Amino acid sequence: FTSSPTRPGLHIIHIAAEMAPVAKVGGLGDVVAGLGKALQEKGHLVEIVLPKYDCMQYESIKDMKVLDVVVESYFDGRLYKNNIWTGTVEGLPVYFIEPQHPGKFFCRGQLYGEHDDFKRFSFFSRVALELLLQAEKRPDIIHCHDWQTAFVAPLYWEIYVPKGLDSARICFTCHNFEYQGTAPASELTSCGLDAYHLNKPDRMQDNSANDRINPVKGAIVFSNIVTTVSPTYAQEVRSAQGGKGLHATINSHSKKFAGILNGIDTDAWNPASDNFLKVQYSASDIDGKIQNKEALRRLLGLSSSDFRQPLVGCITRLVPQKGVHLIRHAIYRTLELGGQFVLLGSSPVPHIQREFEDIGNHFQNHEHARLVLKYDEALSHLIYAASDMLIIPSIFEPCGLTQMIAMRYGSIPITRKTGGLNDSVFDVDDDSIPLQFRNGFTFVTADEQGFNNALERAFNYYMNNAETWKELVQKDMSIDFSWDSSASQYEELYEKAVLRARAASRS
Ligand code: ADP
Repeated sequence: FTSSPTRPGLHIIHIAAEMAPVAKVGGLGDVVAGLGKALQEKGHLVEIVLPKYDCMQYESIKDMKVLDVVVESYFDGRLYKNNIWTGTVEGLPVYFIEPQHPGKFFCRGQLYGEHDDFKRFSFFSRVALELLLQAEKRPDIIHCHDWQTAFVAPLYWEIYVPKGLDSARICFTCHNFEYQGTAPASELTSCGLDAYHLNKPDRMQDNSANDRINPVKGAIVFSNIVTTVSPTYAQEVRSAQGGKGLHATINSHSKKFAGILNGIDTDAWNPASDNFLKVQYSASDIDGKIQNKEALRRLLGLSSSDFRQPLVGCITRLVPQKGVHLIRHAIYRTLELGGQFVLLGSSPVPHIQREFEDIGNHFQNHEHARLVLKYDEALSHLIYAASDMLIIPSIFEPCGLTQMIAMRYGSIPITRKTGGLNDSVFDVDDDSIPLQFRNGFTFVTADEQGFNNALERAFNYYMNNAETWKELVQKDMSIDFSWDSSASQYEELYEKAVLRARAASRS
């Protein structure tokens, strides 16, 4: 319980609401696992703290056991007991927090979307720090993520440093500024923070409602390092249009703010060893792609008569950010152009889910289009492998992982030039980009015409010159999207912050 690092390198503790593959809704889960593993490989001691959700993928946790200590943590004026479980996920040590609170905070059958999310995650953030204090951990870096664990930053400086948990610098990564978790200021009091003191314009007060507090703003103000998940998005959020109300806050803390492009987990996403595929393949032997295409078509009941018929995939949460109107349009346009379309997606927004269910029903027995409206990890792997192209027509995209996964599987991305897509997909026809970096098809304007132009160019390339297309597939599959270089950038930020702290404590 109180093990301390014995090797050189930093002691880094991630406090997060997601970690792939055990508890994942989107990219955040991939980042916690992928960055954690890469930092561990670089010789750092990395630990993760997660809620113990009822709906976790328990089979991916090794050696899970409950500790014989109970951590008592403050909330709503009293102390609540928490069971602490440990286990190993992807080779990383993880603490799982199981509150003994009558609210059954993490027994809801889903990670988010509950009426009391603010309460659930402010509670969790506090227990996570309480655990570190009681376990006598002396981390160099505590890394929190998104609004759910943004509370860690003010809790650390306001409450836990005075209690003696004072070895760490705080890093906060915002994976998407759309989600800020604002709530009436009084709700902050439950986790022990002083709402009166923090509901100030230069602290946690929401920039557009002076009776609400904003956890993401609080983490920007109270962290030593603030990052987001791509250089282009880091620029976009500094403008009034992209910052979702936080641009002024980000600008006034710009010295500690950086954009680092996510990597992908190249072990989990490897077509040469992927057990979800019908046939494994690699850049030097891409024939397996055709057999996976055949397998997917059979699985979904699509026509298999022409192996050269282009297959367009889309794997996404169906939310406005992802350009749902362009996704819908893409289905029809692909069919008009003679292609096949497979959508794997699900929506937390009921009217969007219904709309796509209607479209799905319309194409139920269609030979060339299929909509699978659920979350399905196994199917996602097969679609990446089987498709010739993957569309990502996002309105905004902090980083985006699907374009990188697609390229690793030889599916050519068709993307809108925004956020992390702009940092990872370069148009094959863009003369301003050196030839060796051009890897996909991009468009700027988020309308049907803009999208059509990119899709049509992709179809022309595919149809007219099989050899050039094959070269493009092989080139994309060889690009290094591993976490290695991104993790080095985090490492550098961590090390600088730790050195600054040591220098400050000496002077
Ligand atoms: P976001 O985090 O905004 O959802 P990202 O592109 O960063 O978008 O990450 C999406 C991740 O979730 C990828 O790993 C993708 O394969 C996966 N994903 C999205 N929708 C589904 C789905 N319906 N089924 C399986 N995996 C999905």
